Amino acid sequence: MKRLLNSLCPDEIRPSIYAIDYERLWDAGYRALIFDIDNTLGEWGCRVLPEPAQTLLRELHARGFAVGFLSNDGGTNRPQLREGLSLWPALWRAGKPRTRGYKNMLALLKTQETETVMIGDQLFTDIWGAKRAGLYAILVAPVSPASDSLPAKLRRPLERLVLQLLSRENPPHDHADDRQEKH
Ligand SMILES: [Mg+2]
Repeated sequence: MKRLLNSLCPDEIRPSIYAIDYERLWDAGYRALIFDIDNTLGEWGCRVLPEPAQTLLRELHARGFAVGFLSNDGGTNRPQLREGLSLWPALWRAGKPRTRGYKNMLALLKTQETETVMIGDQLFTDIWGAKRAGLYAILVAPVSPASDSLPAKLRRPLERLVLQLLSRENPPHDHADDRQEKH
């Protein structure tokens, strides 16, 4: 049980992708960022990425981060979105939380798990898979909870429960700093 809880424990929790301190991640040695798409970068099912998200991705790329996308969606009927992401590797039907998608993305990004961060809005897919694959994991609040898919909506109460249990077991602190100290 404890091991399961640990593999569900995000290293950081942030209100959005805009509230992440990417410079600190860089200083701590992270060089690759893998983003979930739906409800992390835009609303669930979005046909295009919001302008601020596109700007952020371009800035992170220009900063030197390798950027990739891991989505459990098929990406069909979303040609504009695919076009918007075409600068970077994206894996659709990624099968999160299975670790294979993460491993394939690491190979595409040519990075190691120890220098890679997964950023997503769902504990039982994005975070669980990332921790099992050995990545640093940042949970963000969903862009629009109302737009969640039905399975995601049904999982939210359980996510909240697990997060409560986790915060009781180990009060939240920023693991990126631990790592920085180790270097
Ligand atoms: Mg999502």
